Amino acid sequence: MARHKVLTLWNEEQINGEETRILRTPCSETPVPFDAATAKAVRTLREAFLEREDAAGLAAPQIGISRKIIAFRFRNFDDKDPAARKEDCEILVNPRITQKRGEPVVAEEGCLSCPEIRVEIGRYPEIKVRACDPEGKKVSRRYLDFAARVVQHEMDHLDGKLIVDYDGSIFVPKKRQNFFEKFFREK
Ligand SMILES: [Zn+2]
Repeated sequence: MARHKVLTLWNEEQINGEETRILRTPCSETPVPFDAATAKAVRTLREAFLEREDAAGLAAPQIGISRKIIAFRFRNFDDKDPAARKEDCEILVNPRITQKRGEPVVAEEGCLSCPEIRVEIGRYPEIKVRACDPEGKKVSRRYLDFAARVVQHEMDHLDGKLIVDYDGSIFVPKKRQNFFEKFFREK
């Protein structure tokens, strides 16, 4: 199976300058009704996401597409059976949070674009989102808890924001402590 490359801020040796630039660039709104390029971007993101069984979500800029599109799953993500989440993929285009409720809940998050580390981040436990579905139809959705966290994380990507931008505790593998100390000092 052809793997789509997910861009990362760093690799095992160094900071990825060019990939960082792409991941840091805020995405533009996708014109509605969708043009052919958007329809293709939606298909590509879905494919790239379904290849990854290790992620709850993926945003278009992570695969180098600078459009406001996110893919995510939450229903079967806790299942240990990868087959159960094979087709589990929600897509939102031009998502916009219209309501946040409750006090932010802190939990650890990882990100395919920030490999090896986890960061504690506070996210609202309930959000309402307006967006377009993969066909370009307007939808209004409400997400709770884990799903709300995933959607907030993916939407950050559309603004060029990543988990390293939050102030919460950071967990890094011991053997890579020097690398990440330097990274966070120079960030
Ligand atoms: Zn991420």
